[in-house]
Amino acid sequence: MAKTNIKKPKITEIVSIAAHQLKTPITVIKGYLEALISGDCGQINPFQKEYLSDALENVKRISAFIENLLDVSRIEANQFDLKIEPIAMEDISQQAIIELSMWIKASNCEISFKKPAELPKVLADEAKIRQVIQNLITNAIKYKTGRGKLEVNLRQKGKEVIFECKDNGIGIPKKDFDRVFSKFYRSEDAMELDPSGSGLGLYINKAIIEFSGGKIWFSKNKDAGMTFCFSLPAVKI
Ligand code: ADP
Repeated sequence: MAKTNIKKPKITEIVSIAAHQLKTPITVIKGYLEALISGDCGQINPFQKEYLSDALENVKRISAFIENLLDVSRIEANQFDLKIEPIAMEDISQQAIIELSMWIKASNCEISFKKPAELPKVLADEAKIRQVIQNLITNAIKYKTGRGKLEVNLRQKGKEVIFECKDNGIGIPKKDFDRVFSKFYRSEDAMELDPSGSGLGLYINKAIIEFSGGKIWFSKNKDAGMTFCFSLPAVKI
């Protein structure tokens, strides 16, 4: 039998191709659902609106998962392009909190945000850092028990700016500490609390922060919950 020269694709390549192929149709479906819900295509009744909104929420989840898969394949192919420029951490943190504020309130959570009067800008990719901050705040809310209490703090330490997100949630068991930034890591309690998680957010966060020349870490709080932190290099003043 003649030998073929066809190279078997790696599993990461298949995942990347599948994610790329899914991206456009999902974006189209999302657009149509948004148009229908807005009433631009004609009046819809409250029942229809509820079903369509539910469909849209699920499409958004698929879309976020596809974006995560694409990020993972870019990281693994070393093709993670960052647009590094001076950015103001206080503005990005504030915007991320505002964007999530409705959901934070609806989730019975309170959030405080503290920052010093003066903070140097950092060198990083604004959109990517916003993604990291949103992931950390979202996790703090998703993995809460009872009334959530969230503290977001910014501070300067030497030539770095540190972002800190402290929660009072379920925490992460000590036995899992080595795996927290691994792909697809999920604690048993987290899976029970929110079965829809992907376990990719922290892996992507670590890559974004380290590619930007920073560090990311976490600690278990004495009372309850976790504190996730990352540092980024400040611009030279
Ligand atoms: P996802 O939240 O989609 O599962 P992440 O990569 O963001 O993915 O988080 C991975 C896992 O780390 C979570 O499933 C959860 O087990 C744990 N985790 C992350 N943040 C927290 C937190 N603030 N409190 C408790 N567990 C957390």
